[in-house]
Amino acid sequence: MVENRVLPRRIVMMGPPGSGKGTQSAILSEKLGLNTYSAGELLREAAASGTPEGNAIKEIIDKGNLVPAEYIVNRIEAKIIEPENHKGYIIDGFPRTLDQAKVFEEMQQKPFFQKNNLAVDLVLLLQVPDEYVIDRIIGRSQCAECGMLYHEKFKPTKVFGVCDNCGCKEFTRRADDTYETVVSRLRNYRRVTAPVIPYYEDKGLLVCVDGTGPIDVVSEKIRKIVGY
Ligand SMILES: [Zn+2]
Repeated sequence: MVENRVLPRRIVMMGPPGSGKGTQSAILSEKLGLNTYSAGELLREAAASGTPEGNAIKEIIDKGNLVPAEYIVNRIEAKIIEPENHKGYIIDGFPRTLDQAKVFEEMQQKPFFQKNNLAVDLVLLLQVPDEYVIDRIIGRSQCAECGMLYHEKFKPTKVFGVCDNCGCKEFTRRADDTYETVVSRLRNYRRVTAPVIPYYEDKGLLVCVDGTGPIDVVSEKIRKIVGY
């Protein structure tokens, strides 16, 4: 039977920290030829712009306060309405709160979005157990010389303590890759972001993907859902 369905091309990628959504967004982006936008990146870009608005954002971020949902959604809207994104787009790690999801939804109801068929048509949720995330994040390290990424369990160096790529013997770890920070980020995800999941489930947009296992196994599952 030939399925005559419209393939989803306006995709939101969700998942806890360490679920691999950044990696999978990048793969999908390349396969589909679509741009990926992450809210964090858009905000950092704005904060570095030096405009009065950018400076105001920088001040909010520097103080550790939450940037208003309206502002983030405006940044995303500015990207989505660009003609090159009318064929589709991927949004990585946004919305992060129910409030953001609702403001984002209002944006999609605008006539321009409806007329050009720009509203989100798929929300992919990468599901991974907490222990898996902890395992994945805690063992990460990076070559101090060439920046090659390693993991003591999942991607160790061929020779212990020596970079495969450049032979360097020095490695760095991200300061926030500790057990305490990972657990706190997971707790924060459950409390703040998890309520977004039933919101998209109710809209019939949510598809869950088992995010455990090798990268290519997960991206194959996503390929089947997205269709490419
Ligand atoms: Zn290296």
